[in-house]
Amino acid sequence: MIQLDAVTKHYGTEVAVQEVSLAVAAEQTTVLIGPSGSGKSTLLRLMIGLTRPDSGTVAVDSQQLTTANIRSVRHRMGYVIQEGGLFPHLTGWANASLMARHLGWSRDRIDARIEELTDLVQLAPDRLEQYPSELSGGQRQRVSLMRALMLDPDVLLLDEPLGALDPMIRADLQDDLRDIFRRLGKTVVFVTHDIGEAGFFGDHVALLHEGEIEQEGRMTALVNDPVSSFVTDFIQAQRAPLEQLSVEDRE
Ligand code: ADP
Ligand code: MG
Repeated sequence: MIQLDAVTKHYGTEVAVQEVSLAVAAEQTTVLIGPSGSGKSTLLRLMIGLTRPDSGTVAVDSQQLTTANIRSVRHRMGYVIQEGGLFPHLTGWANASLMARHLGWSRDRIDARIEELTDLVQLAPDRLEQYPSELSGGQRQRVSLMRALMLDPDVLLLDEPLGALDPMIRADLQDDLRDIFRRLGKTVVFVTHDIGEAGFFGDHVALLHEGEIEQEGRMTALVNDPVSSFVTDFIQAQRAPLEQLSVEDRE
């Protein structure tokens, strides 16, 4: 579905993405995980053509991204940027319907789609009259997701969509999102730095380290057959709930 071949991207002298080759399978969820600065967001931006590679190629459905076709390819992709990226001066409704209005959809068609989407993401329709600052974090992310889904894209690219939420709201949204991905059969690329979340969503997980893919495969393979001490360290860096307790305390 999305194919990156030996993609490299520098910012000045800094390498953000180094010779990355990755195949994103259709109708599956591919998770990009890794520490801050490892190149996750840059990879997403390369996939949607917001950043152009210095070398290497990005293809969507075997069609190489070029300046000529980027706009049409982008309309087939929904993108939720880190922090949600809703426009603060627009209501939820105006944010969610932005692209559809830009493309000249009729009011009836927009209303019908908005109704489907509020149902899908389980947002009370009256919430859409509010501005982003009047919504809770979880509601804002539901609106961001509606905006990304508005044009019914084949591909969803989500950059740490749940990163800013408190744990219980996050768990709720994780359940809802996984259900939505499965029901709609979308091709999803999901960025997180949370191992548990990666395992929960990822049919396929790619662990990034300093702009390179350190290891990719199923989460169980990363846990059981790590290819390097970096993989082991990254996975072990996230503590289990009882780790701080002494042996007597646990009994
Ligand atoms: P992640 O999403 O994994 O935290 P990023 O893809 O945002 O990582 O960043 C990878 C590297 O590229 C970092 O070192 C970051 O500082 C650098 N970088 C990313 N975007 C830019 C930019 N627009 N200008 C300069 N450096 C950037
Ligand atoms: Mg990032």
